[in-house]
Amino acid sequence: MKVGVLGGGQLARMLAIAGKPLGIQLICYESIENPCANSVANIIKGDFNDENALATFAETVDCITLETENIPLTCAEFVAKQRALLPNEFTLKITQDRLYEKECLQSLQIPTAKFHAINTWDDLETALNTFNYPAILKTRKSGYDGKGQAVIHDKQGAVNAWEQLKSHELILESFVNFASEVSLICVRAKNGEVKFYPLVENEHREGILRLSKAPFIHPILQKKAENYANTLVTHFNYIGVMAIEFFVMGNELIANEIAPRVHNSGHFTIEGARTSQFENHLRAICGLPLGSTETIGFSAMYNLIGEEPVREKILSIPNTYYHSYGKAARPGRKLGHITINALSEDALNDSVANYLKIIK
Ligand code: AMP
Repeated sequence: MKVGVLGGGQLARMLAIAGKPLGIQLICYESIENPCANSVANIIKGDFNDENALATFAETVDCITLETENIPLTCAEFVAKQRALLPNEFTLKITQDRLYEKECLQSLQIPTAKFHAINTWDDLETALNTFNYPAILKTRKSGYDGKGQAVIHDKQGAVNAWEQLKSHELILESFVNFASEVSLICVRAKNGEVKFYPLVENEHREGILRLSKAPFIHPILQKKAENYANTLVTHFNYIGVMAIEFFVMGNELIANEIAPRVHNSGHFTIEGARTSQFENHLRAICGLPLGSTETIGFSAMYNLIGEEPVREKILSIPNTYYHSYGKAARPGRKLGHITINALSEDALNDSVANYLKIIK
């Protein structure tokens, strides 16, 4: 079986690695030279608007998936005419635009922060009159890792944010004073079966995910998250892995973002669950039975951002796993991740303390 992936970054790389034992070969379509998935997958290089190259790519594979929502919708629609695109182009259209995404969540009675479409300075001034400070101005499309966002604390902040972002289509969101951030990773098979991983607790700094801890044990929130996820995958007629990020406010969940793909907060599943999110995504889109989403003990996943630590020291911590994506170091760039596993929460906390001492 040959699976095509739109994009060739670290998510495609981890999908390709998961595909090897299943005999599934990955072919990535990428516009950049030597993408991260290069060493484990075949790459077809082409622009995301180049229909000839996209047609060649589509002919080479049995089905197509994606590792990023930041690809032109026209590209997804074009390849979907030739091969099954899983998840489908309708899901991509909604989830690549924060405004459509929030409108969709609202229409399905899934709570979100207050939001308003912003096209002009007047829109921003009017919306700010009905929102309390702080508020967040975000680009509707192409934002990731906190890029394309500005927190507005006062009138002058609004002027600055507008100057910074006015060339884009924008959305203003109220600032949610959350207690914590969590995500739910789920997978839906072709026969409609849906499986859920336990909730993951996430810590972000400067808009970038730093740490994910799993499982986040909270039966009420788990049930709510699973109900919301079920509503969404049914609405989209979704096949594959989907992640939903939420803000936690007491016993309530406020949906922030839907990722129509494998997700950074699910990396712990490689060693911390019976079946990884990458394998389950491939199983789902290839029409294979889903694997168990049960977690094995407790996990902490740290992203390696900007630089990589000395491996020898990290690997001396029991049940600790190092994933380097083979990328050149650059400030703010995700270069790899580390997963620490343990059979009890106490043992995990000891290993995490050890890890934090080493990387200091
Ligand atoms: P996003 O790109 O929307 O996932 O935002 C990145 C991070 O910024 C989130 O994980 C939060 O930590 C923070 N953030 C985004 N939107 C909001 C909001 N409306 N209220 C509070 N924090 C937010």
